[in-house]
Amino acid sequence: MSPQPLHADYPPALSDEQAQFLLDNLKDWSIANGLAVRPAPTFVASSLDPAGVLANTAPVTLFPSLFPKNCYEEGLAIQKSYNELYSAIARDEEWLKEIVEELIGVDEFVAKLWKVHLKVKEEGPVQDITLGLFRSDYMVHLDPEDTNAKPKIKQVEFNTIASSFGGLSSRVSGLHKHLLSIEAYPADVSPAITQDALPENKSVASLAAGLAAAHKAYGQSRSTKPLCVLFVVQDPERNVFDQRLLEYSLLSESGVRSYRVPFSSVLDATKLDSQRNLIYRPKHAPGKEHEVSTVYFRAGYSPDDYPSETEWDARLHIERSHAIKCPSVLLHLAGCKKVQQVLATPHSPHLARFLSNDSTVARVKETFAPIYPLDKSDAGLEARKLALNANAAQRYVLKPQREGGGNNIYRKNIPPFLATLPESSWPAYILMEMIEPPAANNVIIRNGEVRKGGVIGELGVYGVCLWRHGDGAADRGQILENWEAGYLLRTKGNESEEGGVAAGFGAVDSICLVDV
Ligand code: ADP
Ligand code: MG
Repeated sequence: MSPQPLHADYPPALSDEQAQFLLDNLKDWSIANGLAVRPAPTFVASSLDPAGVLANTAPVTLFPSLFPKNCYEEGLAIQKSYNELYSAIARDEEWLKEIVEELIGVDEFVAKLWKVHLKVKEEGPVQDITLGLFRSDYMVHLDPEDTNAKPKIKQVEFNTIASSFGGLSSRVSGLHKHLLSIEAYPADVSPAITQDALPENKSVASLAAGLAAAHKAYGQSRSTKPLCVLFVVQDPERNVFDQRLLEYSLLSESGVRSYRVPFSSVLDATKLDSQRNLIYRPKHAPGKEHEVSTVYFRAGYSPDDYPSETEWDARLHIERSHAIKCPSVLLHLAGCKKVQQVLATPHSPHLARFLSNDSTVARVKETFAPIYPLDKSDAGLEARKLALNANAAQRYVLKPQREGGGNNIYRKNIPPFLATLPESSWPAYILMEMIEPPAANNVIIRNGEVRKGGVIGELGVYGVCLWRHGDGAADRGQILENWEAGYLLRTKGNESEEGGVAAGFGAVDSICLVDV
């Protein structure tokens, strides 16, 4: 059976004049408010913009998407428990080690990250505090077999590094609210869209407040140099405004200076002093050195970010330092798909190790879709049968331990894909049941091109968590700050299985709440 739509006649049909009014306002509001990206070279050739001054509207939806209120509320309500869970995992090296050791032989990236961690452990870490700026991603699942089923959120993945779009998502909520307030969504044709149905989205300010909390927890400068936060970024970065919005909020709301350094320049632009304080040496102001309180990684999550040993040396250099890391290597590893699988394999006992309250455990479990290993355990052998059977594989997605989109293998492509791999490397993958969202429609504008059609939405809920790690033995550390930090809705055309906005498949969107 095909899934039921939440609402048959949404988005509203506008006249040509109404649609033009909406688009004119959308384009100008977006640029005036930083809802923008640097253009892709396929859109604007670099020869036309040699100085790199151009920006264009980020891919956005013309209308906010209808979203079940119970699902939105549950996603927000459960975020603090997820923060607690991943903080506890990152503090449980013994447990994480077992998982990482299963991956080391089949996943070189994980092996190299672990090596960085071990090196620092051997020398003795000098910073006990870690910051997590998380995003838990969900899709709405509607059981296609059951016409009375209520929609529920099911987790797609949990991000512990470089959780993006906190900047743009606040802005797109602002855009849709603005379009409503100027009646670009006329009340007679779009009664569902009301200010009350469009929740405020505080993700920029709330994530920036997380960076500010880490900066404050760092304490006094130990080198007598002024303190700063360091954003470690990719270069080039098209999604730069998303990051700049955090930077500007950090300065205007908390008075904290931050600087951007490409991952490949970290060794050049910073040094460790005799106490392993991380000292930033700005090229633009030689002699005006800063001590780095917090390193915020918006790079380093993908093997592509490490083209040479220099980047691995840079990662080690930062990990050794006294700066608070967002994330530490342990926290980065806690975000592996394999960890998610171990938690979400049916009958897994592991959640109770990390969450003390039984009802919290049950509530978190409710958000899991079944995920299986592809190893030689009982669950793994069962999963291999599903993955190799063309019919059964239709209900699954196969994922490696990667971030950033474009890595998954879907449905009927799974059996032939596995056939190309030696069996010994199958355990690097996890097998996840497909989440089946209700049918929906929207209109997306990307690079000036407007496309209307069936869409799939993905809710991300941001979380901020700051903790003391402890010594891993008698002292198991302690959470210092924990809050839910707003949301993201990403919407993609339903013809593509992937939903990455930066990867070129989706758009940023906002939520219009509906009672289901
Ligand atoms: P990445 O780390 O590359 O972002 P994800 O696990 O988020 O990997 O998967 C990428 C995309 O694939 C998601 O944004 C979603 O659109 C789709 N996807 C992943 N898992 C599922 C699933 N279980 N059901 C349906 N779609 C999924
Ligand atoms: Mg994802």
